[in-house]
Amino acid sequence: MDRRTFVGTSGLLLAGTLLGGVPIVGGKSGKRKMEADGLGFPLMDLHVHRSSELSMEEILETSRNLNLKIGVMENVAPWGITCDEQLKAYLDAMKHYPVYVGLQLMSPGWSKGLSADLVAQVDYVAMDPQVVEKGNGYGETVRVWEYTAYIDDSETFMERNMAHCLDILIGDEPLDIFACPLFLPACIQREYETLWTKERMRQLIDAARVRGIAIEINDTAHVPHEEFVCMAKRAGLKFAFGSDTRSHTLGRLDYCKRIAKNCRLTEKDFFIPKKSK
Ligand SMILES: [Zn+2]
Repeated sequence: MDRRTFVGTSGLLLAGTLLGGVPIVGGKSGKRKMEADGLGFPLMDLHVHRSSELSMEEILETSRNLNLKIGVMENVAPWGITCDEQLKAYLDAMKHYPVYVGLQLMSPGWSKGLSADLVAQVDYVAMDPQVVEKGNGYGETVRVWEYTAYIDDSETFMERNMAHCLDILIGDEPLDIFACPLFLPACIQREYETLWTKERMRQLIDAARVRGIAIEINDTAHVPHEEFVCMAKRAGLKFAFGSDTRSHTLGRLDYCKRIAKNCRLTEKDFFIPKKSK
């Protein structure tokens, strides 16, 4: 057996059935694991996207099997909803399903192109601060989730990032959930603890509190961290679990549950969307 074969076989073993002698859970046993990890109250996942890998039927099945309330979101973006006709079609398509129906917005100004009556028919709206205009010293728009996001200077980015977050939180457009907070581009993620100073965290929490905006705990990105969630809880903010999933990872919520336990979140700490009809 050459080295490559050996490594390949070991990798298969690790990924397949055994890790340190403990069977890896997945499929049905994965669902049992989640139920056993419960927090003692029914959970909600308000950040789920339909996709070619995740149909409404699969979403409903997971919701039933895990007794998990689900909120489906569609982006208001060039690749999602751009006009009233598309928003109306989305509302019509979703109205018979027992899920919350949400919109995920990409940047301030989103509501200008949509009728307020139609927007009022969704159960909640969320926005994340993932597109930072003039986010680097070259004046470029930084999409923080992209591996190629170019940051020349961490502090320059943080100044722009903070201004962008505050624009979202202080704005006058509808907003229920601040999604994926505190996420940083890959090249500066190692500086997370340094860049997210207490003062910056306090500014965001204060701004969210003024308008009663809930904080998402994002299961895919593992943000925000425990210190921020505990600070926000002490300030009286509400929270929402968000898997941010488009695939089979729906229903896991391992990071969300861990942070909720560590910060002793209880049922009353969670945001509940209003069923608009
Ligand atoms: Zn999303």
